[in-house]
Amino acid sequence: MARSKFIFITGGVVSSLGKGIASSSIANLLECRGLRVTLQKLDPYLNVDPGTMSPFQHGEVFVTDDGAETDLDLGHYERFTHATLTRANNATSGSIYERILARERRGDYLGKTVQVIPHVTDAIREQINKVATDDIDVVLTEIGGTIGDIESLPFVEAIRQMRQQVGRNGCVFVHVTLVPYIAAAGELKTKPTQHSVKELRALGIQPDILVCRAETGFSREIREKISSFCDVDREAVIAARDVDTVYQVPVEFAEQRVDDIVLDRLRLEAGPRNLKPWKDMVHRLRNPRDKVSIGVVGKYVDYEDSYKSLKEALLHGGLAHDLEVEVGWVEAEGIVRETAKGQLDRYDGILVPGGFGIRGIEGMIEAIRYARENLVPYFGICLGMQVMVIEFLRNVCGVSDANSAEFDPEARDRVFLKLRELKGVEDLGGTMRVGAWPCRLQPESFAHRAYGAPRISERHRHRYEFNRPEYEGVITDNGMRITGETPEVDYVEICELPDHPWYLGCQFHPEFKSKPLEPQPLFKAFVGASYERRLRHGSSAAEREAQQFLRLPWSRTRRAIVSSGVSRWDSRES
Ligand code: GLN
Repeated sequence: MARSKFIFITGGVVSSLGKGIASSSIANLLECRGLRVTLQKLDPYLNVDPGTMSPFQHGEVFVTDDGAETDLDLGHYERFTHATLTRANNATSGSIYERILARERRGDYLGKTVQVIPHVTDAIREQINKVATDDIDVVLTEIGGTIGDIESLPFVEAIRQMRQQVGRNGCVFVHVTLVPYIAAAGELKTKPTQHSVKELRALGIQPDILVCRAETGFSREIREKISSFCDVDREAVIAARDVDTVYQVPVEFAEQRVDDIVLDRLRLEAGPRNLKPWKDMVHRLRNPRDKVSIGVVGKYVDYEDSYKSLKEALLHGGLAHDLEVEVGWVEAEGIVRETAKGQLDRYDGILVPGGFGIRGIEGMIEAIRYARENLVPYFGICLGMQVMVIEFLRNVCGVSDANSAEFDPEARDRVFLKLRELKGVEDLGGTMRVGAWPCRLQPESFAHRAYGAPRISERHRHRYEFNRPEYEGVITDNGMRITGETPEVDYVEICELPDHPWYLGCQFHPEFKSKPLEPQPLFKAFVGASYERRLRHGSSAAEREAQQFLRLPWSRTRRAIVSSGVSRWDSRES
């Protein structure tokens, strides 16, 4: 049995309280004290993984090195820590049941009745213990959903059993709740927290720490009231007030000594807390020397969580230059050739992110054409790389029917094809290339300059590949370069236009590996190139207009949106 200790994080009252950020922040603090941590998310829904779920519904699908399609909380875990996450770090009721049912069909249960307790709860504990390897001091397991949900019951029972397994000093229960402010009464209300803790206790779990979300924090009296009604030590009632950046949360937790409380409960020795690099990063984030404006032309722009890692990677790219990145989310469907310039000329750089399906493709092509012709830095990610090559073939090489088989299976020029349709390429079996692949870079390229290394590894999640045998000659004859490829199998990974300030498309998703303390090289280079353009061209007329708008007293909401680093200006207009 591994000697890891465990922290279990549950949520109460309502969803979206930021359990993922709370878990990541505690893990971050433990790392800052020299402990080795890992994080895990257990989701009670029945989908086997989020791979098939729409980003409109579920937000981004985060991809790990080993090719697991996971919940976006794993993105937070990786950005806040150095934990290496694998498919064992995310499980759902669906995946647990799938495993149990396969065993049952094989006859592994030897004729016994297969039941939620003990079989499902055993399988959940197995999943938790799987990540508690010898090199891990503390495992943080977050239970998705809200206490009181029917579907999360087996998970709550499993973590209760875990306490039996590892003893009282082997685990800590953290419960994240809400302390709402009722304006009519002018008061903060502790009752929802009391009820949620009562519910948790009815399931056999007494929380050790309460992380209470309260817009502006709370007084000592409120803390004492919660402490006494919920039977949680006073210092373990943590006020989690709203902050301007999620990266501030570890700092807030450190001030309330959450790490000390955890270490004390777990009887763990650790070094002093070194939060300085993290705090410096937050300081730089809040004090940029200037700003740069990036237009993201995509399909899910109205959904806050669908480009989570991308948004963070852009922020990190800005941090690398001490710049604030203002992101304009532009609905691709709304862009047409005649108006593209007017819609996009306020941006210093254009980015087309990943996506699936045909919606918005023609608008993306127009945005890319605008960037290419006007020498605006362009960054195409996965779908954004495919559309970049299609645009080049259509508008520069004269291959007017160029398309991806995904958007038009009947097109004469199918430039992107499913693996199995590619001539001379062995079918790898699965329909999707997902997870980390190595990539060899060509010298003297934007990519090589950004990474400063000849060989890299990045994560993938796509089905269609560049039809290299048929179209490499055409694009390279016309000036596009293939600057990154997979060793041995020769899949095209990166294309660039060298006669452009910065113009790069990559078949992989670099955003998954960006961290605030380690900005991803391509994002850093793209944001840098965009800022250079801004210095050359000055801020656009449209932007000056926007700034004027910002100064108006009635535009408070707008100012709040901008200060959170997210601009929805464009999606509202289109
Ligand atoms: N739809 C494209 C493909 O499957 C791109 C996928 C993506 O952007 N992640 O190849």
